[in-house]
Amino acid sequence: MDTAPNLTPVLGRYFTREWSHGVGHRLYDTNGKAYLDFANGIAVSALGHVHPRVTAAIHAQVDKLVGPVNALGFTEPISQLSTDLAATFPAPLDSVMFLNSGSEAIDGALKLARRVTGRPGIVAFRGGFHGRTFGATSVTTSNLNYRTGYEPLLPGVYFAPYPAVYADFEGDEDRAVEACLAILDSLFATVIAPSMVGGLLIEPVQGEGGFIPAPAAFLEGLRERCDRHGILLIADEVQTGYGRTGRMWAFEHAEIVPDVVVVAKAIANGLPLSAIVSSRELQERWGRGAHGSTYGGNPVACAAAVESLKAISDPDFLARAVDVGERIHARLHEMAARHPSIGEVRGIGPMAAIELVKDRETREPGADIAAAAVTAALDRGLIILKTGIYDNVIRILVPIAAPDEDLEAGLDRLEESLGAAAA
Ligand code: PMP
Repeated sequence: MDTAPNLTPVLGRYFTREWSHGVGHRLYDTNGKAYLDFANGIAVSALGHVHPRVTAAIHAQVDKLVGPVNALGFTEPISQLSTDLAATFPAPLDSVMFLNSGSEAIDGALKLARRVTGRPGIVAFRGGFHGRTFGATSVTTSNLNYRTGYEPLLPGVYFAPYPAVYADFEGDEDRAVEACLAILDSLFATVIAPSMVGGLLIEPVQGEGGFIPAPAAFLEGLRERCDRHGILLIADEVQTGYGRTGRMWAFEHAEIVPDVVVVAKAIANGLPLSAIVSSRELQERWGRGAHGSTYGGNPVACAAAVESLKAISDPDFLARAVDVGERIHARLHEMAARHPSIGEVRGIGPMAAIELVKDRETREPGADIAAAAVTAALDRGLIILKTGIYDNVIRILVPIAAPDEDLEAGLDRLEESLGAAAA
């Protein structure tokens, strides 16, 4: 039932339940039914809903100062958070600009790349999702609906293929890396000179594009080309960051260091906040007043983020993330042995997914199976979401701290739902 007839129909919704409250990894609807939340606002509430320490920090800050006073000077939460967040990055990434959303931070990163390098070109990857503002839309290709009717989008954006190893290269990772780097080189040789490109933007694991990890060799190849041509390598860690792949940052799996990292979603465990992180030198070259935001880094979101980061950067939390990831992958592989609709199990750590196909031989996308499984799961008290350019990937974004029995119960419900979807 539509309980909000005056609310815009534009925002996409997976379900029409009305949600009342959340506690940890459970979300409750207004009928009092509990659901295991394996979506977490799409990787936002990494610590679960209403985390006690984060909530306490919000309460304390609300009584002190709510409105941002960035133009007047500093606040303790923003200063503390910039120090703590910078400490999670390797050198030379030590300077943080706070904004409000992932899209906004992507726009800022694109502006940084153009202004600092003096070059107009931006290279992004097919299947990527970076957000809904005009700049972020211009580099997004995970779904045509996100772009249709908005042209002309930002000029100077060029797309290269992303190594979708399963869907496009029959699972052959080496061939995927080699082919995609070769096409990028040919783009530089025939479409835009690399000396005209300021930034190369990539999700280390494509999220909306289908939970597709970029092979380490691919990211290393990009790093090498960016160094060679003086291009800034921008990692969109909006969905992958904050322990979601078992490391604090997904780029760590490839042992590369980007020039710019975009952070959002889990940063404040639910409050709007995002960040652009780079070296101090780059932000100085960007220049005072070159970018700004009224609300970016507001004290309440920053206070929440300081507590969130304490919890997430705890080695026990990251160890748990690795453990949870292993358990999920093991269970998903077991399910794949029983359910022929699972074409591939993939992802890194607790950023896991299954790609559903009509036929394993042809790999024909099974969007209808995915849709039926998501609905069947909801009926069974499990929230899971679809993703992927063919809408046939089910992603699992469990709250890392969820206890084993709930993790197993959620995966049991997922398997039942796959059975129901196939029936
Ligand atoms: N980048 C990535 C990788 C994302 O997954 C998202 C959101 N799904 C965004 C950017 C945009 O973030 P926001 O919705 O906060 O603008």
